[in-house]
Amino acid sequence: MNDELDAAIDQAAAVIAASRHVVALVGAGMSAESGIPTFRGKEGIWTKHGEPDLRDYDRFREDPKGWWEQRMKPSPAMNELAAALAEAVPNEGHFALKEMEDRGSLQAIITQNIDNMHQIAGSTNIIEIHGNRTKLRCTVCSNRWPLDEFPIDELPPSCPDCGGIVKGDTVMFGEPIPREVLDECIEQTARCDCMLLIGTSAVVYPAAQFPVDVLRAGGALIEINPEDTPLSNVSQLVIRAGSGTALPMILERLKEKGDS
Ligand code: NAD
Repeated sequence: MNDELDAAIDQAAAVIAASRHVVALVGAGMSAESGIPTFRGKEGIWTKHGEPDLRDYDRFREDPKGWWEQRMKPSPAMNELAAALAEAVPNEGHFALKEMEDRGSLQAIITQNIDNMHQIAGSTNIIEIHGNRTKLRCTVCSNRWPLDEFPIDELPPSCPDCGGIVKGDTVMFGEPIPREVLDECIEQTARCDCMLLIGTSAVVYPAAQFPVDVLRAGGALIEINPEDTPLSNVSQLVIRAGSGTALPMILERLKEKGDS
Protein backbone atom coordinates (compact mmCIF):
# COMPACT_ATOMS: atom_id res chain seq x y z
CA MET A 1 0.00 0.00 0.00
CA ASN A 2 1.05 3.61 -0.64
CA ASP A 3 2.89 4.83 2.53
CA GLU A 4 1.48 8.35 2.27
CA LEU A 5 -2.11 7.09 2.10
CA ASP A 6 -1.47 4.66 4.94
CA ALA A 7 -0.08 7.44 7.18
CA ALA A 8 -3.02 9.76 6.36
CA ILE A 9 -5.53 7.00 7.20
CA ASP A 10 -3.77 6.36 10.53
CA GLN A 11 -3.88 10.03 11.42
CA ALA A 12 -7.52 10.35 10.36
CA ALA A 13 -8.51 7.43 12.62
CA ALA A 14 -6.58 9.02 15.52
CA VAL A 15 -8.33 12.41 15.04
CA ILE A 16 -11.77 10.75 14.78
CA ALA A 17 -11.15 8.60 17.87
CA ALA A 18 -10.14 11.70 19.86
CA SER A 19 -13.18 13.76 18.76
CA ARG A 20 -16.46 14.15 20.64
CA HIS A 21 -18.87 14.80 17.77
CA VAL A 22 -17.96 13.70 14.26
CA VAL A 23 -20.13 14.76 11.32
CA ALA A 24 -19.72 13.62 7.70
CA LEU A 25 -20.52 16.24 5.04
CA VAL A 26 -21.17 14.17 1.94
CA GLY A 27 -21.29 15.11 -1.75
CA ALA A 28 -21.84 13.40 -5.08
CA GLY A 29 -18.33 11.81 -5.10
CA MET A 30 -19.42 9.48 -2.29
CA SER A 31 -21.75 7.69 -4.70
CA ALA A 32 -19.41 7.74 -7.73
CA GLU A 33 -18.28 4.21 -6.85
CA SER A 34 -21.94 3.16 -6.81
CA GLY A 35 -22.06 4.13 -10.49
CA ILE A 36 -23.90 7.44 -9.97
CA PRO A 37 -22.17 10.21 -11.93
CA THR A 38 -21.23 13.50 -10.24
CA PHE A 39 -22.32 16.85 -11.76
CA ARG A 40 -18.87 18.44 -11.95
CA GLY A 41 -15.49 16.85 -12.67
CA LYS A 42 -14.12 14.77 -15.55
CA GLU A 43 -17.06 12.37 -15.95
CA GLY A 44 -19.62 14.85 -14.56
CA ILE A 45 -23.09 15.08 -16.11
CA TRP A 46 -22.81 18.87 -16.47
CA THR A 47 -19.37 18.50 -18.05
CA LYS A 48 -20.95 16.27 -20.70
CA HIS A 49 -24.40 17.87 -21.12
CA GLY A 50 -23.86 21.49 -19.97
CA GLU A 51 -25.30 23.21 -16.89
CA PRO A 52 -29.06 22.92 -16.33
CA ASP A 53 -31.55 25.79 -16.14
CA LEU A 54 -30.78 27.58 -12.87
CA ARG A 55 -34.31 29.07 -12.86
CA ASP A 56 -35.81 25.67 -12.05
CA TYR A 57 -37.62 26.75 -8.88
CA ASP A 58 -38.92 29.98 -10.46
CA ARG A 59 -40.33 27.93 -13.34
CA PHE A 60 -42.02 25.59 -10.86
CA ARG A 61 -43.62 28.50 -8.98
CA GLU A 62 -44.78 30.19 -12.19
CA ASP A 63 -46.27 27.01 -13.65
CA PRO A 64 -46.39 23.96 -11.33
CA LYS A 65 -48.52 21.95 -13.81
CA GLY A 66 -46.06 22.62 -16.66
CA TRP A 67 -43.17 21.69 -14.37
CA TRP A 68 -44.82 18.37 -13.49
CA GLU A 69 -45.53 17.65 -17.15
CA GLN A 70 -41.87 18.25 -17.97
CA ARG A 71 -40.79 16.01 -15.06
CA MET A 72 -42.67 13.20 -16.81
CA LYS A 73 -40.41 13.65 -19.91
CA PRO A 74 -36.91 14.38 -18.56
CA SER A 75 -33.90 15.73 -20.51
CA PRO A 76 -31.08 13.37 -21.70
CA ALA A 77 -28.92 14.51 -18.73
CA MET A 78 -31.71 13.74 -16.24
CA ASN A 79 -32.43 10.44 -17.98
CA GLU A 80 -28.77 9.44 -17.61
CA LEU A 81 -28.85 10.30 -13.90
CA ALA A 82 -32.22 8.58 -13.35
CA ALA A 83 -30.99 5.36 -15.04
CA ALA A 84 -27.83 5.31 -12.88
CA LEU A 85 -29.85 6.02 -9.73
CA ALA A 86 -32.27 3.21 -10.46
CA GLU A 87 -29.42 0.67 -10.78
CA ALA A 88 -27.27 1.91 -7.90
CA VAL A 89 -26.51 0.11 -4.65
CA PRO A 90 -24.48 1.45 -1.72
CA ASN A 91 -20.69 0.99 -1.96
CA GLU A 92 -18.14 0.02 0.71
CA GLY A 93 -17.86 3.67 1.75
CA HIS A 94 -21.56 3.90 2.63
CA PHE A 95 -21.34 0.67 4.65
CA ALA A 96 -18.22 1.90 6.45
CA LEU A 97 -20.07 5.07 7.56
CA LYS A 98 -22.95 2.92 8.83
CA GLU A 99 -20.54 0.84 10.91
CA MET A 100 -18.77 3.96 12.20
CA GLU A 101 -22.15 5.24 13.40
CA ASP A 102 -22.91 1.89 15.07
CA ARG A 103 -19.56 2.02 16.88
CA GLY A 104 -20.16 5.58 18.12
CA SER A 105 -17.38 7.04 15.92
CA LEU A 106 -19.78 9.09 13.77
CA GLN A 107 -22.68 11.14 15.10
CA ALA A 108 -24.39 12.43 11.92
CA ILE A 109 -24.31 12.54 8.14
CA ILE A 110 -25.22 15.75 6.32
CA THR A 111 -25.63 14.65 2.72
CA GLN A 112 -26.07 16.77 -0.40
CA ASN A 113 -26.97 13.57 -2.24
CA ILE A 114 -30.53 12.73 -3.08
CA ASP A 115 -29.86 9.07 -3.88
CA ASN A 116 -31.09 7.31 -0.69
CA MET A 117 -27.86 5.27 -0.48
CA HIS A 118 -27.15 5.99 3.22
CA GLN A 119 -30.64 4.79 4.20
CA ILE A 120 -30.22 1.59 2.19
CA ALA A 121 -26.80 1.03 3.80
CA GLY A 122 -28.47 1.32 7.23
CA SER A 123 -27.21 4.66 8.60
CA THR A 124 -29.80 6.38 10.79
CA ASN A 125 -28.86 9.98 11.65
CA ILE A 126 -29.00 11.35 8.10
CA ILE A 127 -29.82 14.95 7.21
CA GLU A 128 -30.66 15.33 3.52
CA ILE A 129 -30.00 18.97 2.79
CA HIS A 130 -31.03 18.62 -0.89
CA GLY A 131 -33.88 16.20 -0.27
CA ASN A 132 -34.44 12.60 -1.36
CA ARG A 133 -35.39 11.54 -4.87
CA THR A 134 -37.61 8.71 -3.58
CA LYS A 135 -39.94 11.19 -1.80
CA LEU A 136 -42.43 13.96 -2.49
CA ARG A 137 -42.89 17.05 -0.28
CA CYS A 138 -45.69 19.55 0.32
CA THR A 139 -44.50 23.08 -0.48
CA VAL A 140 -46.69 24.48 2.33
CA CYS A 141 -46.57 22.14 5.37
CA SER A 142 -43.37 20.25 4.35
CA ASN A 143 -44.97 16.82 4.91
CA ARG A 144 -43.14 14.10 2.97
CA TRP A 145 -44.32 10.85 1.39
CA PRO A 146 -42.57 7.99 -0.41
CA LEU A 147 -43.06 8.59 -4.14
CA ASP A 148 -44.52 5.14 -4.74
CA GLU A 149 -47.13 5.56 -1.96
CA PHE A 150 -48.56 8.84 -3.25
CA PRO A 151 -51.27 8.53 -5.89
CA ILE A 152 -50.83 11.22 -8.56
CA ASP A 153 -54.34 11.72 -9.98
CA GLU A 154 -53.96 15.34 -11.08
CA LEU A 155 -51.16 17.74 -11.97
CA PRO A 156 -49.91 19.39 -9.88
CA PRO A 157 -50.76 16.96 -7.05
CA SER A 158 -52.04 18.53 -3.83
CA CYS A 159 -51.33 17.76 -0.18
CA PRO A 160 -53.98 15.54 1.48
CA ASP A 161 -53.31 17.33 4.80
CA CYS A 162 -53.26 21.04 3.93
CA GLY A 163 -54.11 21.27 0.21
CA GLY A 164 -50.70 22.83 -0.68
CA ILE A 165 -48.97 22.03 -3.98
CA VAL A 166 -46.79 18.91 -3.84
CA LYS A 167 -43.39 18.69 -5.55
CA GLY A 168 -40.47 16.28 -5.60
CA ASP A 169 -38.53 16.39 -2.31
CA THR A 170 -35.30 17.19 -4.18
CA VAL A 171 -34.32 20.84 -3.64
CA MET A 172 -34.24 22.75 -6.94
CA PHE A 173 -31.89 25.53 -7.97
CA GLY A 174 -33.14 28.71 -6.32
CA GLU A 175 -35.37 26.85 -3.85
CA PRO A 176 -34.83 27.56 -0.16
CA ILE A 177 -33.69 24.58 1.93
CA PRO A 178 -36.62 23.56 4.19
CA ARG A 179 -36.15 25.44 7.50
CA GLU A 180 -36.22 22.38 9.77
CA VAL A 181 -33.53 20.67 7.68
CA LEU A 182 -31.27 23.72 7.74
CA ASP A 183 -31.76 24.06 11.52
CA GLU A 184 -30.64 20.45 12.01
CA CYS A 185 -27.52 21.08 9.89
CA ILE A 186 -26.71 24.21 11.89
CA GLU A 187 -27.15 22.31 15.18
CA GLN A 188 -24.93 19.43 14.02
CA THR A 189 -22.29 21.88 12.80
CA ALA A 190 -22.32 23.75 16.13
CA ARG A 191 -21.72 20.49 18.04
CA CYS A 192 -19.13 19.17 15.58
CA ASP A 193 -15.43 19.11 16.48
CA CYS A 194 -14.41 16.98 13.48
CA MET A 195 -16.02 17.14 10.05
CA LEU A 196 -15.30 14.58 7.33
CA LEU A 197 -15.60 16.20 3.88
CA ILE A 198 -16.41 13.27 1.65
CA GLY A 199 -16.69 13.58 -2.14
CA THR A 200 -17.83 17.18 -2.16
CA SER A 201 -16.38 19.94 -4.32
CA ALA A 202 -17.36 22.30 -1.45
CA VAL A 203 -18.73 25.05 -3.67
CA VAL A 204 -22.50 24.59 -3.19
CA TYR A 205 -23.98 26.81 -0.45
CA PRO A 206 -25.19 26.62 2.25
CA ALA A 207 -23.43 23.22 2.67
CA ALA A 208 -20.04 24.75 1.86
CA GLN A 209 -20.43 27.07 4.88
CA PHE A 210 -20.57 24.26 7.48
CA PRO A 211 -16.86 23.29 7.27
CA VAL A 212 -15.92 26.97 7.49
CA ASP A 213 -17.96 27.25 10.72
CA VAL A 214 -16.32 24.12 12.16
CA LEU A 215 -12.90 25.51 11.34
CA ARG A 216 -13.68 28.89 12.95
CA ALA A 217 -14.80 27.12 16.12
CA GLY A 218 -11.44 25.29 16.28
CA GLY A 219 -12.62 21.92 14.92
CA ALA A 220 -10.75 19.65 12.50
CA LEU A 221 -11.55 19.02 8.84
CA ILE A 222 -10.59 15.74 7.18
CA GLU A 223 -11.04 15.73 3.41
CA ILE A 224 -11.54 12.50 1.48
CA ASN A 225 -11.44 13.28 -2.23
CA PRO A 226 -9.18 12.16 -5.09
CA GLU A 227 -9.04 15.78 -6.31
CA ASP A 228 -8.22 19.19 -4.86
CA THR A 229 -11.07 21.40 -3.56
CA PRO A 230 -11.22 24.96 -2.13
CA LEU A 231 -11.11 23.36 1.35
CA SER A 232 -8.02 21.18 0.77
CA ASN A 233 -5.64 23.87 2.02
CA VAL A 234 -7.47 24.44 5.28
CA SER A 235 -8.10 20.77 6.07
CA GLN A 236 -6.04 19.25 8.86
CA LEU A 237 -5.78 16.05 6.83
CA VAL A 238 -6.34 15.33 3.16
CA ILE A 239 -6.85 11.77 1.99
CA ARG A 240 -6.37 11.57 -1.77
CA ALA A 241 -8.39 8.44 -2.47
CA GLY A 242 -11.94 7.45 -3.36
CA SER A 243 -14.29 7.20 -0.39
CA GLY A 244 -15.06 3.55 -1.22
CA THR A 245 -11.39 2.79 -0.50
CA ALA A 246 -10.55 5.30 2.24
CA LEU A 247 -13.56 4.88 4.56
CA PRO A 248 -13.26 1.09 5.02
CA MET A 249 -9.54 1.62 5.80
CA ILE A 250 -10.38 4.26 8.43
CA LEU A 251 -12.99 1.92 9.90
CA GLU A 252 -10.41 -0.89 10.18
CA ARG A 253 -7.98 1.42 12.01
CA LEU A 254 -10.74 2.52 14.39
CA LYS A 255 -11.52 -1.12 15.13
CA GLU A 256 -7.84 -1.88 15.78
CA LYS A 257 -7.65 1.09 18.15
CA GLY A 258 -10.85 0.02 19.91
CA ASP A 259 -9.60 -3.55 20.33
CA SER A 260 -6.08 -2.65 21.51
P1 NAD B 1 -19.89 17.70 -7.30
O1 NAD B 1 -20.42 16.92 -8.44
O2 NAD B 1 -19.79 19.14 -7.38
O3 NAD B 1 -18.40 17.17 -6.94
C1 NAD B 1 -18.10 15.86 -6.69
C2 NAD B 1 -16.80 15.73 -5.93
O4 NAD B 1 -16.57 14.35 -5.69
C3 NAD B 1 -15.56 16.27 -6.67
O5 NAD B 1 -14.80 17.09 -5.81
C4 NAD B 1 -14.78 15.00 -7.03
O6 NAD B 1 -13.38 15.18 -7.03
C5 NAD B 1 -15.20 14.06 -5.92
N1 NAD B 1 -15.09 12.62 -6.20
C6 NAD B 1 -15.21 11.99 -7.40
N2 NAD B 1 -15.09 10.66 -7.22
C7 NAD B 1 -14.91 10.46 -5.90
C8 NAD B 1 -14.75 9.30 -5.09
N3 NAD B 1 -14.74 8.07 -5.61
N4 NAD B 1 -14.60 9.46 -3.75
C9 NAD B 1 -14.60 10.68 -3.18
N5 NAD B 1 -14.75 11.82 -3.90
C10 NAD B 1 -14.91 11.70 -5.23
O7 NAD B 1 -20.71 17.28 -6.08
P2 NAD B 1 -21.21 18.05 -4.83
O8 NAD B 1 -20.20 18.98 -4.29
O9 NAD B 1 -21.76 17.03 -3.96
O10 NAD B 1 -22.40 19.00 -5.29
C11 NAD B 1 -23.29 19.21 -6.18
C12 NAD B 1 -24.71 18.71 -6.12
O11 NAD B 1 -24.80 17.57 -6.88
C13 NAD B 1 -25.31 18.33 -4.81
O12 NAD B 1 -26.27 19.24 -4.54
C14 NAD B 1 -26.02 17.00 -5.04
O13 NAD B 1 -27.38 17.11 -4.70
C15 NAD B 1 -25.95 16.81 -6.50
N6 NAD B 1 -25.75 15.44 -6.99
C16 NAD B 1 -26.14 14.35 -6.25
C17 NAD B 1 -25.92 13.08 -6.74
C18 NAD B 1 -26.35 11.91 -5.91
O14 NAD B 1 -27.34 11.99 -5.21
N7 NAD B 1 -25.59 10.80 -5.92
C19 NAD B 1 -25.30 12.90 -7.98
C20 NAD B 1 -24.94 14.04 -8.72
C21 NAD B 1 -25.17 15.30 -8.19
